[in-house]
This record gives sequence, C-alpha cells and structure tokens, in this order.
Amino acid sequence: MKQLFLAGILFMLTNIVCYAENDLGIKEPLKQGGYYVGNVSPGDKVTFQGETIKTDPDGYFVIGLDWQYKKVANIRVDHKSGGFTMYHLDVEPHDYEVEEITGLPPKYVAPPKDVQDRIAKDAADVRAARETDSNLENFREQMIWPVKGRISGRFGSHRVLNGEPRSPHTGLDIAPGQGALIVAPLGGKVTLVSDQYLTGNTMIIDHGHGLSSVYAHMEKTMVKQGDMVKQGDPIGTVGMSGRATGPHLHWGMNWFKVRLNAGVAIGIE
Ligand SMILES: [Zn+2]
Repeated sequence: MKQLFLAGILFMLTNIVCYAENDLGIKEPLKQGGYYVGNVSPGDKVTFQGETIKTDPDGYFVIGLDWQYKKVANIRVDHKSGGFTMYHLDVEPHDYEVEEITGLPPKYVAPPKDVQDRIAKDAADVRAARETDSNLENFREQMIWPVKGRISGRFGSHRVLNGEPRSPHTGLDIAPGQGALIVAPLGGKVTLVSDQYLTGNTMIIDHGHGLSSVYAHMEKTMVKQGDMVKQGDPIGTVGMSGRATGPHLHWGMNWFKVRLNAGVAIGIE
C-alpha cells in the first residue's frame, strides 16, 4: 500500500514536470551548439549536468550545449521558497556537413618545434580567456551579427579522411570582403587581443557567466585587452591574418570550454 502511494506521488510529480517546461523562458526544442538564457526566481539554485550554474540578481542564467549534445537537457531548480522542479528540455540533433575523403596516402606534416611551441602558447592564452567567469550580464542581450556577409564556412562541418573524422570547424565564417567593419554582437569585456600563428589577429570578448566570443583573421583590431565594449561598438575589421585563404571573419562562441554555434544564436541554423 505504501509503495502504491509512493508510485502515485511520483506519477503526480512527473506530470507536474511535463506542464512546467516553459517556466524557464527557454524555447524548445533546443539545438546542438546553442546557448540558452533562462530565468528563475531570484535566489533559486540552478543545476545543469550536475553542476550549479550561476544566476544573476534577477535570476537569469545561461547554459551551452556542445555540438554533439545527445541527451535531454536536464535542469534542476531548487526553489528558495522550498522544494525543487526538474526540467527535461528536448534537444534536436543537427545535421552537419561532412566531406568524406578516402584513399589518401597517410601523411603527416608536423610544423617545426618553434612553431609548435608558439601554437601551444596561443592555445593556452585562449583557454585562459575562456575560463573567465565574470558577473557581466551582457549574455542576456539579444545577439546581433558582428558583420553581415556571405557565409563561407559553417560551424561543425568536418572532413572524414580515410574513415577518420577530423576536428570540426569551430566557428561561423562570414566573408563580406577585406576591411569590412566588425562590431560587438553582444556587449562585454575584451579579455584577449593577440596576434596568433594560426588565427592571426584574434580577439575574445567575455559576455558574462562563461559566455564568450572569438574573432579571428582580423585585418586590424580597434579595442584593447581590458576594454569594455557595448553591443554594436566597432571592434576591428575583416582580414586574412594568420592561416587564411581569403578575407573572412571566423566567429566563434563558447560557454566556458563548450564550443557553441554562433549560427544558432542568430537564427540561421
Ligand atoms: Zn573559420
């Protein structure tokens, strides 16, 4: 009898969950590579993938899904007023462009040692910038394009060489032509400006709560590390510095280490 009673309670709780899904203000289905801003009552505690997520004083928080996120996005909200709610948000799989290349002779070109060291240092600087966990609230702004132009490369596209998948393209490439003005798609703080071996003139902007954006191959940069920028402020121009075959902006988004698809945020994926 007691077990039946417990089963009944569980059934009721499960049903409550089904009807509570839109309370967070997150639109379903979620997309792989997307980031989502949710809202709870101030003081509620939000847990995603077993980790507590920072909420701002108004109860806003942000989560990011990696490019192959397969699970349902489970979010637990512990209410300040007592009790908790579980949210099970649907995640829609995304079809990435895959180019299969077979019959290639195995050949590895390793860059010389000094170049390897340079690339490793560049990567460490980028990682450090992406660990920034500030209280900035720019993540709540509605994203705008940093520059408009032809999309010359999509996030997540990858080659499969002799059956081995290569790492996916980590940004959205926009090719409006050399010298086109790039603006900050969200406000924030410039956490990195550096001339990198592979990505040329590179900039990272922190938008708060782990959300950051990266701009690569710029012709010139117009703000300095440590500067605060508002949404729409000019930050640089499109170029082909570093390893690039033509002028374009490589634009990436991250939620801490999780690489995001900027295309999802601007509604083109
Ligand atoms: Zn790119």
